[in-house]
Amino acid sequence: MKQTVILKKNDEIPLTITALTALGSGVGHHAGLTVFVENTAIGDEVLAHIIKVKATYAVGIIKKILTPSPDRIEPDCPVFAGCGGCAFRHLNYEAEKRAKLQQVQDALQRIGGIDCPVEDILSTGETRRYRNKAQYPVGMTADGKTIIGFYAKRSHRIVDCRDCVLQPASFAPLLDIVAAWAAESGVAVYDEETGRGQLRHIYLRKGFHTDETMVCLVVTTPKLPRLDALCTRLTAADPTVKSVVLNINRAKTNVILGDICITVFGSDFIEDTLCGLRFRISPLSFYQVNPRGAEILYRKAADFAALTGSELLLDLYCGTGTIGLSMAHRAKQVVGVEIIAQAIENAKDNAARNGIENARFFCDDAAGAAKRLLFEGLRPDVVVLDPPRKGCSTDVIDAVSQMQPDRVVYVSCDPATLARDCKRFAALGYAVRRAAAVDMFPRTGHVEAVVLLVRKTPD
Ligand code: SAH
Repeated sequence: MKQTVILKKNDEIPLTITALTALGSGVGHHAGLTVFVENTAIGDEVLAHIIKVKATYAVGIIKKILTPSPDRIEPDCPVFAGCGGCAFRHLNYEAEKRAKLQQVQDALQRIGGIDCPVEDILSTGETRRYRNKAQYPVGMTADGKTIIGFYAKRSHRIVDCRDCVLQPASFAPLLDIVAAWAAESGVAVYDEETGRGQLRHIYLRKGFHTDETMVCLVVTTPKLPRLDALCTRLTAADPTVKSVVLNINRAKTNVILGDICITVFGSDFIEDTLCGLRFRISPLSFYQVNPRGAEILYRKAADFAALTGSELLLDLYCGTGTIGLSMAHRAKQVVGVEIIAQAIENAKDNAARNGIENARFFCDDAAGAAKRLLFEGLRPDVVVLDPPRKGCSTDVIDAVSQMQPDRVVYVSCDPATLARDCKRFAALGYAVRRAAAVDMFPRTGHVEAVVLLVRKTPD
């Protein structure tokens, strides 16, 4: 039987947007087919130009907005349409929070089969300049102009944008100084295709509480001309620059950072305070990009952990120790595990410098460490998990459940892998009792979530 063609490429159809995907695309339906249209809002009626048709879905772009959704606002960034950084600058913030709360709820229900209501979506309310870290790719246009900015959506094409509204305003002048130094000193921009050139990325970090800035150049070689002149210019223009570091990355890869860091000015790290504690941050160490949002997240995690002072707390994927150390005063003992050596060095310094004596840290893979600690007889009362986007391996979940903690507090930046992992925990005797979302990344498609898993006592 010949299949009727519902839609074909270049068709133009009216469409009502009824939902948003995790990546910020609007969703509508046309004769039973799901149609995704970027940069739309729930309630929009648009004329969609179809650019792709597959068996189960189609993709369109806005040809015309016929009736705008009441959620729509004028984007406050000139490069929003082309840049891959933000997904929601065209929505009022309340609508974005509703969509993200729903996203976490849907993931838990549909992927995890979990029926626990997401209590709330917490946020600092700041939708601009909340990030303390940016990694800007550096490129060259066909006519030889240096471009610095962010990758376009699903692409390695650089959108020229030195003053991103998510970043501190103090970052743009530093980019200008590095670009001018590179041009004057004959430091060539790295070419992804040929592997030629030296300057790959400019990586900036700021301690919001301490007002300390780190400038890190990701380069293919440490042999660069006039580095002293660069450091003098950076620190003269911005006295908050406390550290200038070269990160060496020679590999033909889209992984941004290499393993070797060479400090060329000031300190090997910068510092910041979080939850009243002082933290050291090295270039390779993870540190929450929205520190004020992180304080809200950690408070919620502490609420779920419900420590009374007598517990052993295992903080897996601990980074520089921030979560465990922020809870140490309410625990008997904290054990932290993290795979990046620099972060573990930071974590140990952080404990010592904050006068925390009941915390130990190990540099290890979470799965290997969890198995070893289980074998050694470690029986934590509470386990905090805060893995990267891909979530926890089954080995980690198995070992953690065999340690039989009363509570697992799972912090996640990807609701889908969180839901998958909660389902695995459910099969091993743990039930999700509470869940909350935290909007740590306003205007982007990302959302953080934290859930409390409790060990079910046998009937
Ligand atoms: N809890 C910390 C860090 C969370 S980010 C905080 O709130 O700041 C996730 C951390 O997991 C990163 O520091 C990353 O280096 C670490 N990590 C990634 N894979 C790992 C693995 N297999 N084993 C242990 N740690 C890992």
